[in-house]
Amino acid sequence: MTTLKQPIVGTEGADIVGPRNPDVEAQNPDILIPPVTDHGGLPNLKFPFAMAHNRLEDGGWAREVTRREMGALEELAIVNMRLPAGVVREMHWHKEAEWAYVLQGRVRFYLVDDQRQTLVEDLGPGDLWLAPAGFPHAIQGLEEGTEFILVFNDGNFSENQTLLVTELFAHTPREVLAKNFGVPAEAFAGIPAQEKYIFRQPVPAPIEQVRAEMGAVTFTDKYVFRASQLTPSRFPGGATTVVDAKNFEVTNLAALFIDLEPGGMREIHWHPDADEIQYYISGRARMTVFDAVNNARTFDFVAGDVGYVPKTLAHYIENTGEGPVRVLNVFHTAQYRDVSLNNWLALTPKDLVRGHLDVGDPLLSSLSSARQPIVKG
Ligand code: MN
Ligand code: MN
Repeated sequence: MTTLKQPIVGTEGADIVGPRNPDVEAQNPDILIPPVTDHGGLPNLKFPFAMAHNRLEDGGWAREVTRREMGALEELAIVNMRLPAGVVREMHWHKEAEWAYVLQGRVRFYLVDDQRQTLVEDLGPGDLWLAPAGFPHAIQGLEEGTEFILVFNDGNFSENQTLLVTELFAHTPREVLAKNFGVPAEAFAGIPAQEKYIFRQPVPAPIEQVRAEMGAVTFTDKYVFRASQLTPSRFPGGATTVVDAKNFEVTNLAALFIDLEPGGMREIHWHPDADEIQYYISGRARMTVFDAVNNARTFDFVAGDVGYVPKTLAHYIENTGEGPVRVLNVFHTAQYRDVSLNNWLALTPKDLVRGHLDVGDPLLSSLSSARQPIVKG
């Protein structure tokens, strides 16, 4: 019989004598026994995809973490989708911008923009796309199938409320469709009465053949970005990679990929102008979020979990496991920006810092104005 941890710290707390959920408690040690520095009533900032309703469709699935799942999601929502070989996410568009990150396999992405440029691109693990608000697009698994993450710049977004090509046809008078395309109304006798959303199709032909068969059209690739080819910035304790409008021109969502070695930590910082959504790809980590007045709450994460940090709130991400942590941060801003606590103090006169915090050396002499987003344990 395993001994469950009891919420007792010194003279504070007491044992739990009622029912328990040992699996959930084990994944959330800092919720069961919070650090003594936690205080106040910050809202919940964690939601695992494992607890998100999964929509099973013809050959694939999709699940989402939106404001319905986590009330704090103001500016951003996130979707996880699986499309095996040939399976299609229906042609559609939406009111929000869609930022995508390929986790596994290979995927074909299709988009048409307002300049009548068309995009047909094959992407693999680590690659991105950006579908600007209102631009129609579709997604299809290649032979290997694919799984990916989508981030939208509105917490109220729902993957179940996008504008679908099937629904547009189903809800337009047939004679209007006939006039619009210059064909007899009978041409639309077989259109589906309902959405297809996710459905099986044959694996598409090689990309060169598909492009050639499309004839005289203007291709663009500006809405995809092969982030897998970037070289990360290395620091003692880990590495970071920024993808924002400086290297991926069309994006209005910035991304930071963080790799933390065991013991490594993303230093204490905040973002002046954007909410941050987090997707944990591997490892175990914890984060404390600090807010006025006297508010701090610590959350634990494993692979597949979603975290959130409202703009301007201080936070860190610490690797608390035995293996490496990989976490993706996406921001509701075109350019990545942060403020480092260490840099702030280092760039303030020492006497002023000493007067506030009643500290001396070693802290005052170890402050650094150099950019060091990751620190080693
Ligand atoms: Mn979409
Ligand atoms: Mn951050």
